Amino acid sequence: MENPNRIPELFGSLVFNDRVMQAKLPKDVYKSLKKTIEEDAPLEIDVANVVANAMKEWALENGATHYTHWFQPMTGITAEKHDSFIEPVGDSVVMELSGKSLVKGETDASSFPSGGLRATFEARGYTAWDPTSYAFIKDKTLCIPTVFCSFGGQVLDKKAPLLRSMEAVSAQAMRVLRLFGHTNVAGVRTTVGAEQEYFLVDKEMFDAREDLRLCGRTLFGAKPPRGQSLDVHYFGTIKPRVKAFMEELNDELWKLGITSKTEHNEAAPAQHELAPIFSTTNIANDHNQLIMELMKKVARKHGLVCLLNEKPFAGVNGSGKHNNFSISTKKGKNLLSPGDSPADNAQFLIFLSAVIKAVDEYSDLLRISVASAGNDHRLGAAEAPPAIVSIFLGSELTEILDCIEADKPYEGKEAQVMKIGASVLPDFPMDNTDRNRTSPFAFTGNKFEFRMLGSSLNISEPNVVLNTAVAESLKQIADILETADDFDTEVHNIVKRVYSTHKKVIFNGDGYSEEWHKEAERRGLPNYRTVPDAIPHLKDEKNIKLFTDHKIYTEEEVISRTEITLDSYCKTVKSEAHVMSDMVKRQILPAVQGYMSELSNNALSKKSLGINVMAYETETLKELSEYTDKLYKATVELDSLTENIPAESREKAACHFRDKVLTKMAEVREYADALEVITADEYWPFPTYKDLLYGVN
Ligand code: ADP
Ligand code: MG
Repeated sequence: MENPNRIPELFGSLVFNDRVMQAKLPKDVYKSLKKTIEEDAPLEIDVANVVANAMKEWALENGATHYTHWFQPMTGITAEKHDSFIEPVGDSVVMELSGKSLVKGETDASSFPSGGLRATFEARGYTAWDPTSYAFIKDKTLCIPTVFCSFGGQVLDKKAPLLRSMEAVSAQAMRVLRLFGHTNVAGVRTTVGAEQEYFLVDKEMFDAREDLRLCGRTLFGAKPPRGQSLDVHYFGTIKPRVKAFMEELNDELWKLGITSKTEHNEAAPAQHELAPIFSTTNIANDHNQLIMELMKKVARKHGLVCLLNEKPFAGVNGSGKHNNFSISTKKGKNLLSPGDSPADNAQFLIFLSAVIKAVDEYSDLLRISVASAGNDHRLGAAEAPPAIVSIFLGSELTEILDCIEADKPYEGKEAQVMKIGASVLPDFPMDNTDRNRTSPFAFTGNKFEFRMLGSSLNISEPNVVLNTAVAESLKQIADILETADDFDTEVHNIVKRVYSTHKKVIFNGDGYSEEWHKEAERRGLPNYRTVPDAIPHLKDEKNIKLFTDHKIYTEEEVISRTEITLDSYCKTVKSEAHVMSDMVKRQILPAVQGYMSELSNNALSKKSLGINVMAYETETLKELSEYTDKLYKATVELDSLTENIPAESREKAACHFRDKVLTKMAEVREYADALEVITADEYWPFPTYKDLLYGVN
């Protein structure tokens, strides 16, 4: 930004936001639209016509020629099909957008994954406008955020279930709030701030690596000589090229009304993070999709490539996405903030209990919601939470709950027996030093931070699970409280009971440690290490019941999601195996062969001149020769494993990919990496880890 004074003016300039609506819409139309946005009131077609026309006028003024229903199919990325505004009239055209085209669009859905929900012959789906997320302009196209359903009403995207889960939380939270005397709350929403981690590598180097180009992660690479622990990258000075990238990215995001706020280097070399200010969950979801898309696009303009894969480099930190989550009234009162009066404290403890209960009862679903081939390499590895879900509450809050459970005085500043609803909660400061970065689900003072999400994930799924599980807890709590004789006593009992029953999920220690794995097993917490371990549990009876009770998914939809995730896992590993084999045969083996031939020719020449051949030459040749042989054999075995996949079920296939294919890939890699460190630099066929990780200045 050349003139920072222009930022406020620039912010949201490509968004059809409230300011634009007020300016462009007749008062009564504006009012009806607001009612639709805020209270879910149905939108009349004549209102839609006026809104559509204003939207089109505004879009044309801002250089757009096309519009699209922007949606998130189950691939996780966003999809768009562009239509231009032109409508023929006689020999010429006019620019038009009708209310009908704004509200509903038809799409041939046959090539989007549906997990068997739709046969191709009935592959028509429709997209429906989500007026709670503002329309915006991107690439000269008016993008209308939508949900995507089949004509049978089946959910085919990531957005519809998210909106439903938000409604579920709102409905149940309102019941609880009414009991606490808040009878005029207009609605409750969940809020999310998604911190996004990513890597930047030089584009020329990226292009020279088939694995990065085709799989988004490296399949080979010996560790760089300079260890990561010696690096001072974290929060270090940002390099000029990266800085220029970040500046342009911010400009683009601000124009789209995305509150990009914090940016810094992350733990690994070439790794960075961007955090926006939190917003309502569905909007945070849309914004995160746009952030990822723009990161990739803007990087290219700076000769860089943005890697969003969870584990682009083995042995180096992976990238995640921290999903900061809270629940608030539509007016903005945070329900996970402790407050400072006894009444606020009691209400906070109820909402806190609801989250604890939800996370413990559905920890399997939370794990499942972040499962992907890429995240399997990250979870449990360097600087990433394990595959075990646990909650960090901090020592003070845990102690307070311990005292409540045991009816014991809390030995804070002044010893007091905590009587919920009557006494004030002691302070429990949550400063940065106190924060436990190793916990997958950490309470950070007024929100929870769910850290298991992989960097490329669409944040919808984990939030659907969180919202729905919390809605279920709140429902059970409201059921009890609504019939309680003595409200305060019942509140106290619920907090006590939930804590006793579910404290096994609370862990304030080092989540990365080996001891925690053992302790978690003793506590009976699930530890689903990989996609094939985790995904089949999506169909567990209790999980299907949760989703169907709250009308998020039908049983059929849950099953289809299982199939889609397993299928995508198999496809990912399969294509990685293909690329790996290809790189071995067409790049690594010929390159090493070239180096061996140089070494042996030199040795032969020396011999013919009567000069001694050195140990270096013979030993290196021997080693190269041995590893080459092993590499070739392992690659042939890999090819055969990739071709012979059990056909009985996707579950079996996924297990085959994990146990056989990935294991063999690790072996292939081991030999190739061993060759890399003894092959002369000039022969190695592609950039190394050192080049990639330290190549951007
Ligand atoms: P850090 O975790 O890096 O210390 P912060 O605590 O400032 O950073 O916030 C991290 C993210 O959490 C930001 O995106 C912020 O907007 C978001 N956040 C803050 N409050 C809430 C909330 N009530 N609900 C959801 N997200 C929130
Ligand atoms: Mg964080």
